[in-house]
Amino acid sequence: MTSFKELKIIEPILHALEAEGYKTPTPIQSQAIPLVLHKKDILGCAQTGTGKTAAFAIPILQLLTENKHNQSGKRILHCLILTPTRELAIQIGESFATYGKNLDLKHRVIYGGVKQLKQVEALRAGVDILIATPGRLLDLMHQNHLNLNSIQFFVLDEADRMLDMGFVHDVKKIIAKLPPKKQSLFFSATMPPDILRLAGSILVNPSKVEVTPVSSTAEKINQVVYFVDKENKNKLLIHVLKDPEIERVLVFTRTKHGADKVTKELIKSNIPSLAIHGNKSQNARQDALKKFKSKTIRVLVATDIAARGIDIDELTHVINYELPNVPESYVHRIGRTGRAGASGITFGFCDAEEKEYLKDIEKLIGKKVPIVEDHPFPLKNHTVTKAPPKPQRPPRAHRQGSSEKPHQTSRGHREESTEKTHSSLRPHREASPKKSHRPAGKKNSFRR
Ligand code: AMP
Repeated sequence: MTSFKELKIIEPILHALEAEGYKTPTPIQSQAIPLVLHKKDILGCAQTGTGKTAAFAIPILQLLTENKHNQSGKRILHCLILTPTRELAIQIGESFATYGKNLDLKHRVIYGGVKQLKQVEALRAGVDILIATPGRLLDLMHQNHLNLNSIQFFVLDEADRMLDMGFVHDVKKIIAKLPPKKQSLFFSATMPPDILRLAGSILVNPSKVEVTPVSSTAEKINQVVYFVDKENKNKLLIHVLKDPEIERVLVFTRTKHGADKVTKELIKSNIPSLAIHGNKSQNARQDALKKFKSKTIRVLVATDIAARGIDIDELTHVINYELPNVPESYVHRIGRTGRAGASGITFGFCDAEEKEYLKDIEKLIGKKVPIVEDHPFPLKNHTVTKAPPKPQRPPRAHRQGSSEKPHQTSRGHREESTEKTHSSLRPHREASPKKSHRPAGKKNSFRR
């Protein structure tokens, strides 16, 4: 197995990685770092959780440090990282701070939803690396607070999500302002045709890097499902949260309104919780995340878009309060736990209408999810007989990439598009002590 030293990482970065407890590079890092150091453009198929931030941050920091010896004077913007959400931008900023702590490089993070003054002042003071969301970056460019003429490195992160969120025009406008001569790194969790077209417009003779496909994520995670009527889901949630082993739990709802409603109910029952979703202000989201990470609150209720990309170590449990109708979203969601090599635990709450979703999920992960039968709120009229066969869906390969825009679910909710996801396996870290896999309810009450 390669080490960071074998990847020819310079000492100051090696020290920073050591301090962070990184022992070996993740697969995406082993693949991408040497290529970036060899000045190659990259087409990377990987999602958050695979260590992809370090896969581009480490070699960029190294190349910038090496270049710096040839330069003098004021800091010039050399590297732009474009990322779809504020949370991701902040996280990437934190990664640059961590890996670059022994280097003389300055990075800044800019995003919308907050006043621009501080960001403008920071830009004026000079930065080497800028991590930005597209809207605010364009705003500041239009106001002549920055230009991209000196960019040597361009990273487009989570390209598929960028498109999902409707940023494609902004991204294209930004790309048009980049100098022709630069090194570009392009990352996306999925590679449908329009993403590949976008990549083709940026990358020159790129090297491809890819990490293991999604379903292996699911294998590490202990999963169970509770059948429950929709109107009893709150009661069931409060019931399962009686288990003190659930130290910190991310609860997924399908809608923003749903997230708020669940949070309200939990608070009524004296369970400290907060919601994060697209309608919350940036400060409210950051505050919720901070409180969750510091264990001030025990439950974070989130929608898919808000939660994707959030990196919370030691998250013991994920609850799918509502099952997603796109099975890949289920794997994304449960992949929030079981990180850092730990075995996560996940409960799904399945009402009568969601049984079809469960079937699709089981098809994707290639196994049946054990059912917790013994709980106080069983589904009325729930028979465990085999469901009638369903009309054939198009093959998965066809479905992938066929819906790139957020689409309406059968119930009319807007949600993320279908996509192939990738493993968030991180075998390089010490596995944290295993938690009990017993769900609330009696022991040995699983069926199947
Ligand atoms: P990312 O996919 O970039 O969001 O990274 C997910 C998590 O993996 C972050 O918490 C990183 O700190 C962590 N990480 C990245 N690379 C390594 C590594 N080589 N060893 C241990 N942890 C890592």
